[in-house]
Amino acid sequence: MKFTAEEIQNLAAEFEDQAPREILQWAADNFGPRVAISSAFGPEGLVVIDIAMRKVSPRLPVFTIDTGFFFKETVELIHRIEQEYGIAVERLHPELTPEQQAEKYGAELYKREPDKCCYMRKVLPLQEKLPELDGLVTGLRRSQGNSRKGAKILQLQETPTGHRYLKINPLAAWTKEEVWWYIISHQLHYNPLHDHGYPSIGCWPECCTRPVEDGEGERAGRWAGSDKKECGLHTFAANI
Ligand code: SF4
Repeated sequence: MKFTAEEIQNLAAEFEDQAPREILQWAADNFGPRVAISSAFGPEGLVVIDIAMRKVSPRLPVFTIDTGFFFKETVELIHRIEQEYGIAVERLHPELTPEQQAEKYGAELYKREPDKCCYMRKVLPLQEKLPELDGLVTGLRRSQGNSRKGAKILQLQETPTGHRYLKINPLAAWTKEEVWWYIISHQLHYNPLHDHGYPSIGCWPECCTRPVEDGEGERAGRWAGSDKKECGLHTFAANI
């Protein structure tokens, strides 16, 4: 890592007043091929990808963690994004297919042990990818809920296996309204499930993603009825 923790802190404070395009440009200039966008193709990821591809560099790599439990609408959206920008989205896969997982751990592990399921299907594939990267761009926003309210634009992190990298959240300070204004005004493709009560979309089992009622928080449909709030992708690495 070419920056000290103190330099990162200072830059993060400076970036609070900067547009996502400038933050992404800084990331591309400083990390070259060792920075990538990680996206599950929610609204924020679509905005980050659009800004990156149109205004920064169409060569910024994009990857997604394909749990094997994507909604068909998500699969279709990823194909549309690839066509729109002429890119190939890298799919990271868990070690086991959903069928192999069911055979080894029993059916519907996501209902019984969602943390274990998320760890195997999301966290481990990301942890294995990270040593290739010095910078990881995400669409995290502070206003997505309590578990994300402390998100910084830049955060130095270390995985449990000792790899240090910079997490870059160019939309940390954006509101949900700003994200949707961008999507609508730039006529971006988005997941049609958002028009059917799903503000946040993860895996298809209903215990993992359900539509929300009027007045519920935007992540209330994720692991509803349990204490689980995060899959672990944003929490497994330690902040430095
Ligand atoms: S969101 Fe649900 S199905 Fe997807 S990895 Fe986590 S527990 Fe498994």
